[in-house]
Amino acid sequence: MTDLYDLTIDETRDLLKNGEISSTELTRSCLERIGSVEERVKAFVTVTGEAALEQARRSNCGTLSSDPSMPLNGVPMQIKDIMCTRGIPTTCSSRMLEDFVPIYDATAVERLYSQGAVLLGKGNMDEFAMGSSTENSAFFPSRNPWDLDRVPGGSSGGGAAAVAAGEAIYALGSDTGGSVRQPASFCGVVGMKPTYGLVSRFGLIAYASSLDQIGPITRDVTDCSLVLNAIAGHDPRDSNSIPHHVPDYTSALTGDIAGLRIGVPKEYFVEGMDDGVREALRKATSVLEGLGATLEEVSLPSTPYALACYYILALSESSANLARYDGVKYGFSYRDTDNMWEAMEKTRQYGFGAEVKRRIMLGTYALSAGYYDAYYLKAQKVRTLIRREFEEVMGSYDALVTPTAPTVAFRLGEKTEDPVQIYLGDVYTVPANVAGLPAISIPCGMSDGLPVGMQLIGSHLSEGALLRIAHAYEQATDWHSMRPQL
Ligand code: GLN
Repeated sequence: MTDLYDLTIDETRDLLKNGEISSTELTRSCLERIGSVEERVKAFVTVTGEAALEQARRSNCGTLSSDPSMPLNGVPMQIKDIMCTRGIPTTCSSRMLEDFVPIYDATAVERLYSQGAVLLGKGNMDEFAMGSSTENSAFFPSRNPWDLDRVPGGSSGGGAAAVAAGEAIYALGSDTGGSVRQPASFCGVVGMKPTYGLVSRFGLIAYASSLDQIGPITRDVTDCSLVLNAIAGHDPRDSNSIPHHVPDYTSALTGDIAGLRIGVPKEYFVEGMDDGVREALRKATSVLEGLGATLEEVSLPSTPYALACYYILALSESSANLARYDGVKYGFSYRDTDNMWEAMEKTRQYGFGAEVKRRIMLGTYALSAGYYDAYYLKAQKVRTLIRREFEEVMGSYDALVTPTAPTVAFRLGEKTEDPVQIYLGDVYTVPANVAGLPAISIPCGMSDGLPVGMQLIGSHLSEGALLRIAHAYEQATDWHSMRPQL
């Protein structure tokens, strides 16, 4: 039998329900796995072993486990360290918040708890979610379970690495420009960024508020639907939350995509892409055709501007959002002076890492008088163009298919000298954030022994259609069942 830590949520359901395994056994199995591989993978900032076993004990005693509407009951998971967890440090992988202990739970976390979820600990990430490799974590980089010399992607790299390595059954990440999908792609797991506003941002520490969304990182598409079911839905505590009736996403998993129309945006298949990624995508699209979907080339001409647009908007918003870390209310505080201004300066000088400071400076510049029109305002206009272009094309298609990232996982240190090289890797993921659209990454092949991800982008609130296509593809292939040897 497979080790318990390697099961999917869906596979644990019957076992837990029939009493063949207990949540305590499942949780112990994950904790033991953490014990044996975490030293190499470094996916966690904090492991909450005792608390996890206590939550597991409670779920064993409860009656929830026999309730089919509670599929997450007793199942252990990891939460990215950017989501507030009451009584548990929430650091954003930053010195600034190293000692910050929230007094409340993020809505998404609260919803998982109300389903009986078991928290194993908090996931490592790029500091304040700024990055694509977890190398910007102020504590340590995480590593890719498929090749420990490579990055797991980022910024939710700890989540993707933990799920791929068997350290957690699933994880929650956040995605501002690709931070759930790109690490999922690098680690060979499933990652979804829902429609902007579908999952509450309450308790999610802000990076760029108009782009931030929480999303599931799982081992397959069924699990992704189960987690989305739990976390989606209106929350009055997030002013951008959509008052929308949330369907049961598992009912979309019919396996049938005959007759669906899928667009292949030609601007996403240009130079700069690894040959191995191109080849994997070519095969994946023919699998979709084999399942009866119609694939057609489409054009999104503003795509080349999406990356610049994203980096202006995200950095501008981040410069405003991170102004709150002044050493007064919470977080790190420099105390070795009587001068208030010096205290603030030193707090930010020592509390933030190099990439965060770079972004605050760039964002402040883009918003400053005299440059606002040329950068921020212009980027807002480009955003509108990109959104409209998607709306037009999506009118005729059920989804678009693209690679998730132009490359497979790169080596640690390979790109740290040149941040622009890292930014360029976000080229396929940022458009969905800029337009507020849902997108999912699923494993679709291997190149040089490393996983390749396929991205499906949908129209506003079309999560069901995306999950349906992704699930049908998954049924026809076994990339999702491959596990790294650790
Ligand atoms: N890599 C992108 C960035 O650095 C996206 C990060 C994210 O989605 N949080 O901004």
